[in-house]
Amino acid sequence: MIELKSARELGLMRTAGHVLSDVVAHLRGFVKPGMSTLEIDEDVEAFIAARGAKPAFKGYRGFPATVCISINDEVVHGIPSSHRRIKEGDIVGLDLGCIVDGYYADCAFTLAIGDVPPKVQQLLDVTRESLDQAIQECRPGRRLSDVSHAVQAHVERHGFSVVRAFVGHGIGRALHEDPQVPNFGDPGRGPQLRPGMVLAIEPMVTMGSWEVKVLDDGWTAVTRDGSLAAHFEHTIAVTETEPEVLTSRTGRSVQVA
Ligand code: MG
Repeated sequence: MIELKSARELGLMRTAGHVLSDVVAHLRGFVKPGMSTLEIDEDVEAFIAARGAKPAFKGYRGFPATVCISINDEVVHGIPSSHRRIKEGDIVGLDLGCIVDGYYADCAFTLAIGDVPPKVQQLLDVTRESLDQAIQECRPGRRLSDVSHAVQAHVERHGFSVVRAFVGHGIGRALHEDPQVPNFGDPGRGPQLRPGMVLAIEPMVTMGSWEVKVLDDGWTAVTRDGSLAAHFEHTIAVTETEPEVLTSRTGRSVQVA
């Protein structure tokens, strides 16, 4: 069942989302070549705690860290480590969530470290644009698969692939609520969107095949063909009018790859 959030609940999720928006702004200047992924994780954990929020991922099904950090062919759920260092030319996916008074927000972005080839920058741009297009479908009367279709159509128009194995989700009092939000599918299907619904939409896009596998650590998902992958995510509230991006201080999608 898809729960509709009250104004009070949306307020708490907005507070959580704005903490994440601030973390993202901070990380854009903070992440540098030579840094370990554990250093990034510890920094974000302290940042979230200083705002009076709690990390959403740490301890979730046993995940050991605050941020999922997934580099290059890693798609999602990379585990921070003192042994893993960021290099010039990497693309680094950073996925994080936090909790304020029991309510969740979730977001992700992929950062290019220094100069990357134009095709790689295009992967990031197209993934972010597909999220923006999906957000524009989050209006009363549209159907859930209109959101999914918007992602797939934009990504495949540019010759990239959409990962099938992981999907977006409803969010609120739990990190993952109904409905599942696939990044692919025909339009015009599924439940109609209504004000008060909140969705975490998170396209995962590869330069090669859409097939992924999970590494022996039980978490890290990588592309089967070793191709690069990008991931962007926002938490979006359906309103009577424009969709509200709860994980942006402006309420709008303003991510820059
Ligand atoms: Mg998510």
